[in-house]
Amino acid sequence: MPKFIFVTGGVVSSVGKGITTASLGRILKSRGVSVSIQKLDPYLNVDPGTMSPYQHGEVFVTVDGAETDLDLGHYERFIDQDLTRAASVTSGKVYMSVIDRERRGDYLGGTIQAVPHLTNEIKARIHGAAKATGCDVLICEVGGTVGDIEGETFIEAIRQMRHELPREDTLSVHVCFLPWVGATGELKTKPTQHSVRELRSKGIQPDAILLRSDHPVPREISDKVALFCDVAPRAVIPMETVSSIYEVPLILEDRGLGDFVIERMALSGGRDLAEWREMVERLKHPSGRVEIAIVGKYVKLKDAYLSVKEALDHAGIANGVDVAIRWLSAETLESRDPAEVLSGVDGLIVPGGFGERGWEGKIRAARWARENNVPYLGLCLGMQVMVTELARNVCGLEGANSTEHDPETPYPVISLLEEQQGIINKGGTMRLGAYPCRLEPGSLAAAAYGDENVTERHRHRWEFNNQFRPQLEAAGLRVSGTSPDGGLVEISEISGHPFMLGTQFHPELQSRPNRPHPLFRDLVAAAVARQGRVSAEAATAIAAAEAVVRG
Ligand code: GLN
Repeated sequence: MPKFIFVTGGVVSSVGKGITTASLGRILKSRGVSVSIQKLDPYLNVDPGTMSPYQHGEVFVTVDGAETDLDLGHYERFIDQDLTRAASVTSGKVYMSVIDRERRGDYLGGTIQAVPHLTNEIKARIHGAAKATGCDVLICEVGGTVGDIEGETFIEAIRQMRHELPREDTLSVHVCFLPWVGATGELKTKPTQHSVRELRSKGIQPDAILLRSDHPVPREISDKVALFCDVAPRAVIPMETVSSIYEVPLILEDRGLGDFVIERMALSGGRDLAEWREMVERLKHPSGRVEIAIVGKYVKLKDAYLSVKEALDHAGIANGVDVAIRWLSAETLESRDPAEVLSGVDGLIVPGGFGERGWEGKIRAARWARENNVPYLGLCLGMQVMVTELARNVCGLEGANSTEHDPETPYPVISLLEEQQGIINKGGTMRLGAYPCRLEPGSLAAAAYGDENVTERHRHRWEFNNQFRPQLEAAGLRVSGTSPDGGLVEISEISGHPFMLGTQFHPELQSRPNRPHPLFRDLVAAAVARQGRVSAEAATAIAAAEAVVRG
């Protein structure tokens, strides 16, 4: 029988509850316990696919094509396991299935209520996820904070499960934030006390409390929380802000969270984070530094490109360098000279995106990278940018474009499959989730993966238009990855350039700290190599100048 850990939040959100949940997963997995993680999101959207990145950050896509919360990305990266759509539950999904059933008449004339109908649906989804993954422990994180109206049914479902299952089969972990009052120079526990009181008023007594804080948490503070909240002192664990999220499992394990959970839930397995620790050591002690620009639309909200940022960190670990990111708004590049804005970067990424804004700026960035031999990785939209730029500036197809941005373009180098096949049905359906890709031997892509067949995750409507393939190939485009039948172009690269490659899919979604994505790894390697070339050239130039001075 699977066991369940429920992670709730108190005081404020956005203090790293997702990272804490993911870290607990890593701690248990490293102890040999088979785990899986599920997110319970209280909002009424069916999924975050329709939400603006400004509201919600990145949309994370699972192998089976679910558009989910970005916390699932953290879960996958920390436990190094693929999750599926069962790992993402929203109030929207729960209401929709209950109401669908009501419309079908399944409730035989009964009155449909939050309790038991919604709570039963939630419990079924929690048990379902545990069963589908066959895990020993399912960790369920509830989004938002305790007391949110939308979260009530989830909390009630959890209360029922705690009542129904043996004591050692469930555990409640509450993550709170300790505010710092500057005037008196102290951390305050009162909001935590209130939040735990709120949780207890719903029938849930937490077993462990994690204290998030930007300041060191003295022993008397955690003891005070233990006393006021009726939790064992060893189960009140401070978690101060650290420089890398990947340190969190190490700190929580060192402070006894793993031992406490193992004992309290009658599990077995000793600590073993040696490999993880080694990875964090490499991350914290780089031997160099490269700077990579991310040219995007939402650069003010870095969460919109969370997996891209993480994948760059992973690639940095693999190359032994610190990867600094220069966040650039693509719109800036429309009015300013790319050579000036991008000056000094060792490589650049044009990430995924939807809509017109910044498109032309991205094209200018790609041109600059191509003409100056600067390493470039295009992710989905970034591949479409690369192809469009080549069509316009090398093939001479003036006005070439994606029909997403110019439906009337004379040269639709990127278009909807429906348009390519002459089907009228506009709008197009999104290609979502994992698809196989066959790599072209001898290409940059094949060298990176060291494989001929790979699987990668997609989220897009527009596609490379094969009608223009011969012209683009004549101009130096190399198609290095296609669908197995050869019909869809999945990866393309610029021949003769040290590293300029675009993917129709989102490789960032599959990168893990201990298993960096090969394309990100090789982008950073190319950036390191370019840095070496640039400084060698500079040294030669200085030596030449000195020789002239010396006469
Ligand atoms: N907007 C483009 C499309 O739908 C690219 C999407 C993306 O980058 N994920 O094809």
